[in-house]
Amino acid sequence: MRTILIVGNWKMNKTASEATAFMRGLLARVPAQPANLELVVAPPFTALESVRLALGASSPIQLGAQDLFWEDHGAYTGEVSAPMLKDLGCRYVIVGHSERRTLFGEQGDLIQKKIRAALKHGLRPILCIGETLAQRDNGTTDHVLTQQVHDGLSGLATEALATITIAYEPVWAIGTGRASTGENANAVVKDVIRPALAALYGDQTAQAVRVLYGGSVTGANAAEFFAQPDIDGALVGGASLKVEEFLAI
Ligand code: PEP
Repeated sequence: MRTILIVGNWKMNKTASEATAFMRGLLARVPAQPANLELVVAPPFTALESVRLALGASSPIQLGAQDLFWEDHGAYTGEVSAPMLKDLGCRYVIVGHSERRTLFGEQGDLIQKKIRAALKHGLRPILCIGETLAQRDNGTTDHVLTQQVHDGLSGLATEALATITIAYEPVWAIGTGRASTGENANAVVKDVIRPALAALYGDQTAQAVRVLYGGSVTGANAAEFFAQPDIDGALVGGASLKVEEFLAI
């Protein structure tokens, strides 16, 4: 059985002190977790240390980063590497978020380098894929998603897939308040994303990979996505910034 995973992507929000205050509020209210649920928060790099300190050693919440660079160290001004994230206690790292793809020109080859760097250092990559509104409207969603799965994940060792999560995030649903429906998102995961994985690694592996939905998930609609057989959790942006809303999800 695939374990439900809920990841809060804070994007470029919260200073280190704001992050500490938020985590105190969240940890005071977070309920005891059932065995099949994992919770992750992904603060900006600058708040990773303060969130780690707030979480302590035996927290029910795990730490994730929003991005990484593919080299371990060197002359790469402004970048942060997998060993640096690992040393700060990160377990997960988001790779290929649509904002990275759109605003920073990240594409297939580069994204796979980041996936490989994460795996090399024992970080669990969360690969984001999703079609734009134009791609949806011109009927190329299946092709785009299949290509993104292929670009990000082809040629890896099959065992690596056990630590990889995919986040299906239709770009038109991110930050717009226009979420997909549970039924539609499930159909995309079942009929496009898992078959794309199966073409690379076989059906058994494809069925074992966790696939999250992301795009305007809130406390009001989360249950609709979690009820779907092929959706294994959510990548949450805006609604992860408020304690009450994140708890509701
Ligand atoms: C995201 O940033 O991955 C995201 C899904 O954002 P939001 O929940 O705000 O749509």
